[in-house]
Amino acid sequence: MHVVIIGAGPVGMLLGAEFARLGVEHVTLEARETPGAGSRAIGIHSAALAAMSASGVTDRILSACLQVREGEARIGGRAVTTIRFDAVRTGSLASFPFVATLPQAATETAIAAEAAGHGAPAPQRGVQVLDVIDEGSSCRVITDRGEVRGDAVVIAAGSRSRHISSLTREGTRRAYPDRYVMADVPDDTDDGPRAIVHLHPDGVLESFPLPGGLRRYVAWHSPGSAGSAPDPAADLRAAVTRRAGSSGDTITTASTFGVGRFVARRMLRGRVLAIGDAAHEVSPIGGQGLNLGLIDAATLAPLLAEWGRTGEPPAELAAWERRRRSAARTAARIAALNTVAGRGHGSLGAATRLAGIRLAPARLLAHAYGMGFDPDARAPHFRPRTR
Ligand SMILES: Cc1cc2nc3c(=O)[nH]c(=O)nc-3n(C[C@H](O)[C@H](O)[C@H](O)COP(=O)(O)OP(=O)(O)OC[C@H]3O[C@@H](n4cnc5c(N)ncnc54)[C@H](O)[C@@H]3O)c2cc1C
Repeated sequence: MHVVIIGAGPVGMLLGAEFARLGVEHVTLEARETPGAGSRAIGIHSAALAAMSASGVTDRILSACLQVREGEARIGGRAVTTIRFDAVRTGSLASFPFVATLPQAATETAIAAEAAGHGAPAPQRGVQVLDVIDEGSSCRVITDRGEVRGDAVVIAAGSRSRHISSLTREGTRRAYPDRYVMADVPDDTDDGPRAIVHLHPDGVLESFPLPGGLRRYVAWHSPGSAGSAPDPAADLRAAVTRRAGSSGDTITTASTFGVGRFVARRMLRGRVLAIGDAAHEVSPIGGQGLNLGLIDAATLAPLLAEWGRTGEPPAELAAWERRRRSAARTAARIAALNTVAGRGHGSLGAATRLAGIRLAPARLLAHAYGMGFDPDARAPHFRPRTR
C-alpha cells in the first residue's frame, strides 16, 4: 500500500507521522517551499490529546504547552461564570483535564519532530497538486512537476485547494460577515493561566494565555471593516481598553481574519479521502478546527494500515466517515453559536452569549469546549495511556 498525502500542514504531517509509526509507505506533496509560520490555532483539546497519545505527539505538546484548567466569562471586569475543565471526570477530560495552549507553528514543529523520529520521509516541497484521478485500482495525482501514482490519496490541503478533487468540491460553504482582529502579545494582565471571555456590547474580546508569558487577544470587529482597517493594532488596543479595562499597551501589531463554515458531503470516495480543513472548516471562534483535523488523521491512520495489510478497504472506513462528519457538524454548530453570540449589537450579542453561558451548566460547557461531543473522544481504541 502506497499512499499519497497532499499537504504538509499539521493534519497531513500528523498522518505522515502515524503512517511511519504504523509502517504505511507514503509520500507527502506540499506546495510551499517552507513550513507556514503564521499564528493560527492555539488550543489543543483533550479529545485531540487523547487521539494523539499513542503517537508521542501528545507528550511533545505537553512538554511545551501551558495547561489551561479554568475559563471565565466576565462583564465589566466581574466574573459571571467559571468553567473548570478539571471538574469533568469523564471521557478524554478525565485524562487531560485542561486545554493545552501552544501556537500552531510550535504544534507543527512537535508533529514534524515526531514524524522524523519515526523515519517518515520529508515532504516533497514546492509541488503544487492540480488534480486527483481515481482509476479504480489506483490513483493518479497530477502536479505542476509531473504525475505521482498511489494506491490511495489523502487530501489534507486545507481550505484553499478544494478545487483539486470532486470529493472536496462537494459541500456548501457559508461565509459569515464577521471580522476579527487578533494578536499574540506579552501578557500584562493579572489573569495568569486563565482563559477569559469578556462580554461587551461592542462585541466579544477573548483573552487566552500562551506559554512564554504571552497572551492571545481576539476581538470582534464590525462586519467588513477590519479587512480594510488601516491600523488593526490600534483597533485591538482600543477593544482591549474598552472591553477588558486593560491598557493593551503591549499590542504593537495585529492581524485580521474572517470566518466561514464548510462540511464536505463525503470524506471518502473509492481510493480518495479528505481530512482536516480540506473536508471541514469551522469558525476559529470555536477553537476546534485544527483539533478536528488532528483527530481525523489519528483515527484514519490505523484504518489505512489495515487496508495495506489485508489489501481490502476496511468496512470500518464507512463508520469512520460518519463519525468524523458528525463531529465536524457539531463543532461547526458550536462555533456558529459562539460567532453569533460574540457579535456587538449594542448589548444583544453579549446578552445572548451570557444567557447561553448562564443557562448551560458549567460542566456541559467544559464538555463542549473540550470536544467531549466528538465520537472519537470516547472510542475505545483511542483510550489514552494511563498517565
Ligand atoms: C486566525 C485563525 C485562528 C485559528 N484558531 C484555531 C484554534 O484556536 N483552534 C483550532 O483548533 N483551530 C484554529 N484555527 C483553524 C486551524 O488553523 C486549521 O483548522 C488548521 O490549520 C487546518 O490544518 P490543515 O493541515 O487541515 O490545513 P492547513 O493548515 O491549511 O495546511 C494545508 C497544507 O496544504 C498545502 N497545500 C494546499 N494546497 C495544496 C496543493 N494544491 N498542493 C500541495 N499542497 C497544498 C498548504 O500549503 C498547507 O501547507 C484557526 C484558524 C485561523 C485562520
